[in-house]
Amino acid sequence: MSQDALSNLLQENRRFAPPAELAAAANITEDAYTRASEDRLAFWAEQAERLTWAKPWTEVLDWTNPPFAKWFVGGEINVAYNCVDRHVEAGRGDKVALHWEGEPGDTRAITYADLKREVCKAANALGELGVVKGDRVAIYMPMIPETAIAMLACARIGATHSVVFGGFSVDALRTRIEDADAKLVITADGGYRRGAPSALKPTVDQAVTKSVENVLVVRRTGQEVAWTDRDVWWHDLVDRQSEEHVPEAHDAEHPLFILYTSGTTGKPKGILHTTGGYLTQTAFTHHAVFDLKPETDVYWCTADVGWVTGHSYIVYGPLANGATSVMYEGTPDTPHRGRWWEIVQKYGVTILYTAPTAIRTFMKWGDDIPAQFDLSSLRVLGSVGEPINPEAYVWYRERIGGGRTPVVDTWWQTETGAIMISPLPGITHGKPGAAMRPLPGISADVVNDEAESVPNGSGGFLVLREPWPSMLRTVWGDDERFVQTYWSRWPGLYFAGDGAKKDDDGDLWLLGRVDDVMLVSGHNISTTEVESALVSHPKVAEAAVVGASDPVTGQAIAAFVIPRGDAGDVDVEELRGHVAQHLGPIAKPRQILLVPELPKTRSGKIVRRILQDIAEGRPTGDATTLADPAVMDHIKQALGL
Ligand code: ATP
Ligand code: MG
Repeated sequence: MSQDALSNLLQENRRFAPPAELAAAANITEDAYTRASEDRLAFWAEQAERLTWAKPWTEVLDWTNPPFAKWFVGGEINVAYNCVDRHVEAGRGDKVALHWEGEPGDTRAITYADLKREVCKAANALGELGVVKGDRVAIYMPMIPETAIAMLACARIGATHSVVFGGFSVDALRTRIEDADAKLVITADGGYRRGAPSALKPTVDQAVTKSVENVLVVRRTGQEVAWTDRDVWWHDLVDRQSEEHVPEAHDAEHPLFILYTSGTTGKPKGILHTTGGYLTQTAFTHHAVFDLKPETDVYWCTADVGWVTGHSYIVYGPLANGATSVMYEGTPDTPHRGRWWEIVQKYGVTILYTAPTAIRTFMKWGDDIPAQFDLSSLRVLGSVGEPINPEAYVWYRERIGGGRTPVVDTWWQTETGAIMISPLPGITHGKPGAAMRPLPGISADVVNDEAESVPNGSGGFLVLREPWPSMLRTVWGDDERFVQTYWSRWPGLYFAGDGAKKDDDGDLWLLGRVDDVMLVSGHNISTTEVESALVSHPKVAEAAVVGASDPVTGQAIAAFVIPRGDAGDVDVEELRGHVAQHLGPIAKPRQILLVPELPKTRSGKIVRRILQDIAEGRPTGDATTLADPAVMDHIKQALGL
């Protein structure tokens, strides 16, 4: 994105006030913003007090060597103790931590007391395998309770985990094992996906490198697995361990985990998160953004543990807060397209946190599916991963939330570790498509090329002006890349890589990645805004927009559109006119291509650079981060390429 600020095209005037009952009992009130702006470090110190520290810190933030931050300097804490033991010690051992639902319909209810026993046994097992504090452990697992148990066991002993999404290939797993020099890999024989066992162990067998001394294998599906001396069954080793394990206190800056970014824009980066600040901000944000009431809420985050959302909002945030969560193993359409809503009804889920890609899929499947279930327990809905199109937001609020529930659109990244920009459900008047305000204690801003804050009503680059507790500490093994990627564009500012605008009230709207912004006849136009305009047409299920080079306008807009299943014939001219009517003639797509699918990452994000290759008539580039590389063949076929 260059000279001018992003054009501010989208007009969205719908507003939703917080429900009175929620507002009256909200966890966070307006004064949190005031207190945080008066003394940011005191505010974060107050949040850190939610946790139980073994040794108090002497300084909240050491920022003498930017961009390398140290939070809660000198403090010592054990993450697993905070997520498990302390709830048991407080008499809440019988409370369910995880309602786990397997795809085939098998279930497990794991209380905090159960979790403590399992985590202690797993920690002892890691010790028996010779894993010690500072070692790295790769975790390549399906969505089963042992995945969370393995992460917590690592945290307990101070081994740094690197969770690799269970859908990744041999190459992706091998490069991550190598990059972290992992000593142990924890995996399973397989997991259930789309109604069938899907193997994991064979991928590990091919991916293990020299550094790996053992592979610890959970039996989940019972499928046949190859076996070597290196392999150990979880049930053989873990089950016979002692249920006692004394948690050692770790330094606040001890490395908790490495996690690779989704790879939407290129080669994934190994993001390093540490202990005290990370847990402080995940616990605080989970409490504030979802208004969590641990005694009564049933919380469900549908992400995979292999993504940062799974780390922060399935494992660490909710468990630190003593929440009762649902964890689901499989896909949303197995055995039927109402599976999620059946789960909400069954467990009485009150808070649901999911991604726009899922919401758009449910819209495509039709309103009648969720309508068959009782969703009246829901009281707060969350969204993360991509900008949420206003139409998807309203559908989510109406069809899933019964028109009662606030929708919190949460902006953050693997790098930020926790939510940074979001409405607060008891305070904020929601605007469909807007992430609204930086949370208390977070200083996000939108700037122009000269790093000057843009006025209300303008767009530009999203930056963070001050360090935050759960910030990444570096790119694993590559301080230089950390500095280059995030801190070199403007001195002293963290550059997130996303475009954003401030509306006339100063509220924030995310406009997609800066790399995706189009330059049409000298105007920067956001892909997100054009996509949202397309999705607001009743015949459009999903849309992806790219800028394709054009001899006249510099770039011209090319749109790839998936029609709604029951839409009948789609008139492309009508769609072009619809966009022009919503956003103005400048945003009218040059071409609209009807396609059956869109290329997405494993975490469900649209990969626009590949569509740009098609729009510009090039052979399509690297498709290895796609969830399903065959999608490109389907698209090319539909376009006659
Ligand atoms: P890579 O950095 O490897 O290209 P990635 O950025 O997709 O991958 P993540 O860290 O999983 O990896 O995703 C963070 C990004 O997702 C953000 O930078 C932003 O572009 C997008 N995002 C997440 N939540 C939101 C949201 N609520 N609104 C808009 N965009 C969002
Ligand atoms: Mg990114």
